[in-house]
Amino acid sequence: MNGSTAGGARTTPEATARVALVTGAGSGIGLAVARRLVSDGWTVLLADRDVAAAEAANAAVGGAATASRAVALDVSRRPDWARVVQDVGDREDRLDLLVNNAGITRDRTVEKLTDADWQQVIDVHLTGTWLGCQAFLPLLRASRGAIVNLSSEGRHGSFGQANYSAAKAGVVGLTRTIALEQARHGVRANAVAPGPVDTPMLAAVPDEVVNGWLEQIPLRRLARPAEVAAVVAFLGSGESSYLTGQVIAVDGGSSHP
Ligand code: NAP
Repeated sequence: MNGSTAGGARTTPEATARVALVTGAGSGIGLAVARRLVSDGWTVLLADRDVAAAEAANAAVGGAATASRAVALDVSRRPDWARVVQDVGDREDRLDLLVNNAGITRDRTVEKLTDADWQQVIDVHLTGTWLGCQAFLPLLRASRGAIVNLSSEGRHGSFGQANYSAAKAGVVGLTRTIALEQARHGVRANAVAPGPVDTPMLAAVPDEVVNGWLEQIPLRRLARPAEVAAVVAFLGSGESSYLTGQVIAVDGGSSHP
């Protein structure tokens, strides 16, 4: 991409068809990120373990009328990432933004947590994010692209969520390390750490717990998925070109700077 067109009219690199892959795009924040990026002119690869959900999401966000498409991907499986990298290499031959967003919860106090509860959450959030970053670094380097990883306010510790908290704290260390290692190659990596967001993931949390959280949030409401998506879009765009290795809290004022 050299910033010019055959007709001679100048375009900025930002105006060309940039390609983003969003994991967990079938629901919640991932769906909102896909919607935002499609509306900003990106070609979006909507990845989810449930490919039917990803296809429905692509139709819902208007991606079906563009080059955007659904991709089957279980982020916790290395062979899935290898297949998707090959597929993207064959079809789009570029990746400008990787959004590691897919997530699950298996909430229990530490004493009740099973090995499976622990492992599944670590596998999806932490291992899945690592596998994705590693798999796509060659294409991201070629485009001097960006990574945005979903952490959480829960990274500081969260009652009944030892597995999730440990994974989300790990995502911060992983993100910061990738930022340090890849800066010389022009790849930026940042994390977004939302407080409670109004998505299906929150449906598993009892109302009295959510109400307790709301009392602690200065803005006194849940985040809307689009409000998280706006920050992800900023971190994926050239507007944030001097930002890397950062964790941006999107939490209604709950945390101290
Ligand atoms: P969500 O509505 O439950 O969406 C998560 C999506 O990820 C679902 O489509 C889910 O598919 C998919 N997914 C789960 N495991 C996967 C896997 N192994 N491979 C590929 N896709 C998979 O959750 P959300 O609230 O939007 O959460 C998105 C991210 O934001 C997560 O990383 C979450 O930890 C983080 N976050 C959320 C909140 C919040 O309050 N909602 C706050 C802070 C951070 P299934 O439906 O089949 O499981």
